[in-house]
Amino acid sequence: MYDKNNVFAKILRGEIPNKTVYSDDNVLAFYDVAPRAKVHVLVIPRGECTDSFDFTQNAPADAQVAFWCGVRKTVEKLGLRDNFRTVANTGRGAGQSVMHFHIHIMSDERFTEDF
Ligand code: AMP
Repeated sequence: MYDKNNVFAKILRGEIPNKTVYSDDNVLAFYDVAPRAKVHVLVIPRGECTDSFDFTQNAPADAQVAFWCGVRKTVEKLGLRDNFRTVANTGRGAGQSVMHFHIHIMSDERFTEDF
């Protein structure tokens, strides 16, 4: 069940500030407040969905396409091409702490190591 008071819902409503990288009608991309890589940005859909399972099952197809277009535009805006990771922690067991679907975009020299 989606909690309208999660921190990303508050960011989307403008109740909490963010450092925006990219924004359009479907997505918002902003810097992670506690970066764990040299570049660490989050991309979220504007629609209400708790995690990747919820999003891929329940979001309309055009919203899913628009989301990935937003991820792509965010990556381009960051000047990344062949040195980034996208991660979607899904569920508390995987360490998801904010229950509004999001993709982490991370880039760092350390990524020469295997994951
Ligand atoms: P996850 O653990 O996959 O749910 O990721 C949630 C991410 O949100 C974490 O990396 C947090 O550092 C980040 N985060 C939490 N609150 C904020 C905030 N107000 N602005 C930006 N990032 C945040």
